[in-house]
Amino acid sequence: MRWKMGRLSFLQEDLEVLRGRGRLRELKWIASRLSNRVRVEGKEVLLFCSNDYLGISQALLLKEEASRAIEEWGVGAPSSRSIAGSLLIHKELEERLAEFKGTEAALLFPTGYMANIAILTSLVAEGDLILSDQYNHASIIDGSRLSRAEVWVYKHRDMDHLEDLLKRSKHRRKLIVTDGVFSMEGDIAPLRELRELSDRYGAFLVVDDAHATGVLGKEGRGTAEYFGLLGQVEVQMGTMGKALGVMGAFVAGERILIDYLINKARTFMYTTSLPPPLVGILLGALRILREEGWRRERLWENTRMFREGVKRLGFEVLGDTPIVPLVIGDDNLTMEFSRRLLEKGVYVQGIRPPTVPEGTSRLRFSISALHTEQDIRYALGALEEVGRELGVL
Ligand SMILES: *Cc1c(COP(=O)(O)O)cnc(C)c1O
Repeated sequence: MRWKMGRLSFLQEDLEVLRGRGRLRELKWIASRLSNRVRVEGKEVLLFCSNDYLGISQALLLKEEASRAIEEWGVGAPSSRSIAGSLLIHKELEERLAEFKGTEAALLFPTGYMANIAILTSLVAEGDLILSDQYNHASIIDGSRLSRAEVWVYKHRDMDHLEDLLKRSKHRRKLIVTDGVFSMEGDIAPLRELRELSDRYGAFLVVDDAHATGVLGKEGRGTAEYFGLLGQVEVQMGTMGKALGVMGAFVAGERILIDYLINKARTFMYTTSLPPPLVGILLGALRILREEGWRRERLWENTRMFREGVKRLGFEVLGDTPIVPLVIGDDNLTMEFSRRLLEKGVYVQGIRPPTVPEGTSRLRFSISALHTEQDIRYALGALEEVGRELGVL
């Protein structure tokens, strides 16, 4: 990257610091549609870092859904939802989502990031307390800051620590917030214990199911289904930019929660409503998710196979979901590992601080139903070779 020395040249110093530490982010351009393989840097490689867990983004059927929605509703609804942006197709999707999550109602948001900001800034304020897992997503951290509530962070999945904090709190309202599946750890929140503690100490529970929607539970309804707690989590957020293959997000819960957000959530009130073709596609994606259970079965078979393989090779592996982080430790070694894998035809992103704690840089594999057994064997072979070359194994 080269920068000209104009009025913004004061930005350069910070970027040079990042570069010096091997932490400068540069975009990798993909020159093909996404499937199990993509074209990156002039060659075809296996893709192991997309969130398209079920391969729904590639379902041809969705083309028809998009055209039908365009014919009936047009390409855009360029207004906020509270003005002229609430079409019956939005209502239909919200009803389907509520049904899927087993809640009274649901509300659409453009992104999960905005849904989390909405939840945290609407439901608590100054004088209240947010109890937040150490490894919660950046959007939860940002929403917590914007809320003006006090934020106490508990150690990752540490229920004793959480209980200590709950005992000490004298706040008016207490909100416990957690990722369902942790995006960089690939592990699952202990939802039963969180439910119990919430009940015992008069807190309420917010679960971010970005990576759990479509993935966890027999029918892919998320963390609550996985733990047999359907209908027992006050606030559930889900994204449609991961297993549902496109983009968009929702909050699901009781009718009163949704009505409250319609009135109070600034990231709902002051932004443009989702365009009809996207809503049509999402209706189709949700139907595929419900009707094609083989995708989730395949995802979990692939996950088991890959997880067993990397353990056998001797990697330090975290979590127990289709997000499979292999901890390498050093930043530069991690990035070199990722570069050499790409040379061998396996695209997986290295993840460095500040996204993960210092000294725990990692390769973060995402497994998909689109991967074939051969793809997984190939990736394991490449991991073994590069691991040996770099002295990691
Ligand atoms: C991806 C993600 C989000 C943000 O969702 P978008 O729809 O991509 O904005 C929020 N929370 C978690 C845990 C995520 O992984």
